[in-house]
Amino acid sequence: MSDAGAQARREQSSDTVFGAIVRGEIPADLVYEDDLCLAFRDLNPQAPVHVLVIPREGIAGLTEAGEADPALLGHLLQAADVVAQREGIAERGWRVVINVGADAGQTVNHLHLHVLGGRALSWPPG
Ligand code: 5GP
Repeated sequence: MSDAGAQARREQSSDTVFGAIVRGEIPADLVYEDDLCLAFRDLNPQAPVHVLVIPREGIAGLTEAGEADPALLGHLLQAADVVAQREGIAERGWRVVINVGADAGQTVNHLHLHVLGGRALSWPPG
């Protein structure tokens, strides 16, 4: 993948607020962690449960993860499922979202999965 947007995200990914959370430099409300990823509550929740799952490694986004470490993507999805179960939303239903690039509203260039639930989620998303 070599489009300009992806290139810009790669260049901006070396230091983000999520990198600072991984390094413990700024606090986060952790709900899950393992050797490859951690999950913490979103600062600006869009649902009663809104947790972000991120790799410890500073990978810019979905495209970069697919290129560098596709197995990591499966691990992050499994972690999202663990989070949903721990948060008590697995039975009623929940959603995992990855925003990629400007049109999707990606604001942090460190790969992250949004885990959303605890209310009925409309479809299609806005
Ligand atoms: P994006 O729009 O890139 O898909 O999602 C970035 C998310 O990160 C947003 O939902 C935003 O509220 C959240 N966020 C941004 N900065 C921080 C922070 O310092 N701490 C936490 N917990 N969430 C953050």
